[in-house]
Amino acid sequence: MNPAKIALITGASRGIGAATARLLASEGYAVAINYRRTEQDALALCREIEQAGGRAIAVQADVADEAEVLRLFDTVTETLGAPTVLVNNAGILMQQNRLEHIEAERVMEILRVNFLSCFLCCREAVRRMSTRHGGKGGRIVNVSSLAARTGSPNEYVDYAASKAAMDALTRGLANEVAGEGIRVNAVRPGLIYTDMHADGGEAGRVERLKTRIPLQRGGQASEVAEAIVWLATEKSSFVTGSFIDVAGGL
Ligand code: NAP
Repeated sequence: MNPAKIALITGASRGIGAATARLLASEGYAVAINYRRTEQDALALCREIEQAGGRAIAVQADVADEAEVLRLFDTVTETLGAPTVLVNNAGILMQQNRLEHIEAERVMEILRVNFLSCFLCCREAVRRMSTRHGGKGGRIVNVSSLAARTGSPNEYVDYAASKAAMDALTRGLANEVAGEGIRVNAVRPGLIYTDMHADGGEAGRVERLKTRIPLQRGGQASEVAEAIVWLATEKSSFVTGSFIDVAGGL
């Protein structure tokens, strides 16, 4: 195991984050699997990775909370070493609705979990990775959404706006730290089969909309993970401030 291959993936107990953890582990990364509530899923994933010969730890932390983000980074650094890869994947959406029916409290929660978490984790990663602070560099991949481009009308414009904020952060931070050994990129998934759609009140959303996708099907979490891992490794060494849409042509 190369000690410099240390990846922290937020929201990795299931869905796209779990697929990313599996793939990074298969590439020789020690992986920190962050989760908020689903401890059993996170522990089962750790066992699966270790049975395949990899190294994984599960770390509970609400990444929308600054103190918990600090504890998360300290725990990972003490246990595995300072992360050289950060994947900001944790994200939520809420019940589909038109804008005039969405309350301020919900908007703030969406921004906290989807955007503030990304901001805080980027900050802690830069403090450890940047050559300006004595670090050895690293890669950050933000999991945005195609919603940042479409705006998700009639479903969740608050969610879409939080993802557009992630895109602006990705662009700005990429240029800010490009000379300090850190590359920052984003992946924008389209309609992917995960549990997330049930949180919007429509578990079968991908099935309903799949005929609108040029490739005529929904995507799998593992297909998104491939793009994330490419951006997280040296295979993408000349890429920063870039976006990969994994959306079947949408
Ligand atoms: P998912 O299956 O619902 O999984 C979400 C993960 O995020 C879970 O591990 C969850 O942990 C974790 N999480 C949520 N809030 C958290 C918090 N405050 N702190 C720490 N962990 C937290 O979602 P997914 O579909 O894989 O989505 C992953 C990312 O892809 C999200 O950012 C999402 O916006 C983006 N995306 C998904 C799609 C899609 O079609 N699925 C499309 C575009 C973009 P717990 O289970 O412990 O709460």
